[in-house]
Amino acid sequence: MISSAAFMSHQPVIDGFQFASAGATQQGAFPASAFPRLRDLLASDAGEVAYTLRGLLDARGRPSLGLRLSGTLQLRCQRCLEPMAFEVRHEGMLVLAATQADIDADPKDTSAPDRVLAGKQMPVRELVEDELLLAVPFAPRHERCVGASGMDEEGKASPFAELRGLLQSRH
Ligand SMILES: [Zn+2]
Repeated sequence: MISSAAFMSHQPVIDGFQFASAGATQQGAFPASAFPRLRDLLASDAGEVAYTLRGLLDARGRPSLGLRLSGTLQLRCQRCLEPMAFEVRHEGMLVLAATQADIDADPKDTSAPDRVLAGKQMPVRELVEDELLLAVPFAPRHERCVGASGMDEEGKASPFAELRGLLQSRH
């Protein structure tokens, strides 16, 4: 297994069809800051996402990529705008296509697997970011917000609310 630090200095790429037919596996991790399309959802750059990418064949024997993601990101609660730890646990599969015409010929069926255009140099970071966008809630909210509601009628933060705030900030 390669350490996540090794991946921060370069951009890993795979040859899609070759990776799938060889049944290859690649593991690594990206910091939250590596995903520009997630930036608007994140409260901070804290955290990272570990991935396991596997080459495999789908039920119809087509070369595919399985992608498993895990990690913790700091999303911004859409109600109180405070950070909210979100645990990423996601498993997705992409069926490789040789041409865009192959993808367009697929039935527009929500149960059909996701397709991706195979390349000789597919950036792993982009595959991970695509799947991450599916895994992260569009409008994340705390079950119970602690920020704005922690003020009592005189405008002072109640000790209880401060304690909850402390506990939460340690996530
Ligand atoms: Zn909240």
